[in-house]
Amino acid sequence: IDLRGNQVSETEREFDNKLRPLRFNDFKGQAKIVENLQVFVKAALMRGDALDHVLLHGPPGLGKTTLSNILANELGVNLKLTSGPVLDKPGDLAGLLTNLEANDVLFIDEIHRLSPVVEEYLYSAMEDYRIDIMIDKGPSARSIQLELNPFTLIGATTRSGLLTSPLRARFGINCHLEYYDTAILTGIVERSASILNVPINREAALEIASRSRGTPRIVNALLRRVRDFAMVKGNGEIDIEITRFGLEALNIDKHGLDEMDNRILTTIIDKFKGGPVGISTIATAVGEDGGTIEEVYEPFLIKEGFLKRTPRGREATELAYHHLGRAKIDGDNP
Ligand code: ADP
Repeated sequence: IDLRGNQVSETEREFDNKLRPLRFNDFKGQAKIVENLQVFVKAALMRGDALDHVLLHGPPGLGKTTLSNILANELGVNLKLTSGPVLDKPGDLAGLLTNLEANDVLFIDEIHRLSPVVEEYLYSAMEDYRIDIMIDKGPSARSIQLELNPFTLIGATTRSGLLTSPLRARFGINCHLEYYDTAILTGIVERSASILNVPINREAALEIASRSRGTPRIVNALLRRVRDFAMVKGNGEIDIEITRFGLEALNIDKHGLDEMDNRILTTIIDKFKGGPVGISTIATAVGEDGGTIEEVYEPFLIKEGFLKRTPRGREATELAYHHLGRAKIDGDNP
């Protein structure tokens, strides 16, 4: 399974849905965002208006889809889900928009991957609840204007840096989701375990939480795997021994770093003497897009103290050397 949550399988998705909080009350962490959204939802309900358009950005698995579900539930409206790459013709978008009931929520995942034509269509839909569609072809082609029901667009993106400014400007509510701390992730593990009906003790929950890269989706995926080990190799209960055993067997990093995190750190240390080194140089060396490193990988490495951002580029910290079992040679950084 892909622990980062990219291209999750069908069963993984079902599992995800089962554990997905449906109300603000069950959504842990992101306190500031939740608090604000609750106010905006309440105000929209009092006015009987559609909630303003919402942009949710942040790394994968932090709860963007979950929050959209919650918003629709709390607003008492329907939720339609789609994604940027799927909407490749303006007609696809028009079809979705014209089928929305008043105040419904349309969720577009990976909104940074919308094609420019589709994006243009979205502007007037967002602003005036109106779209122009072309009918007929050739000399009789003409455009007609369609009125839409008021609706809320929720756009989710891992790469907010790729959004065009006209699109960004049309979102009245802008939320940046942060990585979760271990205490909150522990609470998520315990909640998920109780939904799945597996006994787990606090120590084990904490261990899973601290090795989950600050990410609820990874917490749930690890819990699922450890549950397998507990059933087959243990007595069905999740304690610290079986958790350690399972996580070792799965090769899960002590700090929750994934393969790309480790590759980035190893590259900086081994190829660039620990840095400072520019993001584009790192990107070329590890074979990943620079923007993705900046928006998806680097924030976690910086937050956990493995990487430092300096005016001259990125530097690996003592902790990174220690983690990778490398000796730091002082005074070697040019
Ligand atoms: P994203 O859309 O940002 O990639 P999702 O909303 O799909 O992430 O979240 C992945 C899984 O993590 C969901 O199935 C949900 O069960 C869980 N999850 C995410 N955020 C939270 C949270 N704050 N509290 C509890 N579970 C969460």
